[in-house]
Formats: sequence, C-alpha cells, structure tokens
Amino acid sequence: MSGKQLQHRRPTPQRTCVVCHEKHDKRLLVRVVNTAHGIQIDPTGKLEGRGAYLCGSSSCWDRAIQGQALGNALRMALTDEDRNRLQQARP
Ligand SMILES: [Zn+2]
Repeated sequence: MSGKQLQHRRPTPQRTCVVCHEKHDKRLLVRVVNTAHGIQIDPTGKLEGRGAYLCGSSSCWDRAIQGQALGNALRMALTDEDRNRLQQARP
C-alpha cells in the first residue's frame, strides 16, 4: 500500500450532552475540561484532561452549574470559581 488516502466526507462526530444525554453534532456542543487549573471551556477541543460535553441549551447549563451531572462526568467537585466560569460561558 502506498500513497495517501483521500478523505471523503467524514461523518460529523456525535457527542452526548452530560446533562440531557441527547446526542448532537460535536460542533454544536461545548467541551468543558477538568484541567489542573479547574474547569476550562475548550472551544478548540484540544485541551488535555477529562472532558465533558454540554449542549447549547441554557437549561442544561443551569443544571450543569447547579447539579451533580457535570462534576460526576468530570470526576471532580465543582468549585465556586468553576461555577462562575461556566456561568460566563453559558449560552
Ligand atoms: Zn443538554
């Protein structure tokens, strides 16, 4: 085998919102990462660390900020600073 394989239409990856568990195109979701500096919003999808996806529904963000789903998905406890950061990124 030699030569490059041309990439034809790639299917859009699907990810699941950790709050409502609905699947969406990856680009419609926001990746949130548990980093050494707390939660970071990751628009590029390239940050290292355990990530979780949230959909564009503001009610999912509310539940992520107030509830346990996001912390469970990221295996961490959200701090007030993390919640503030999420609040600012909330759609
Ligand atoms: Zn959702």
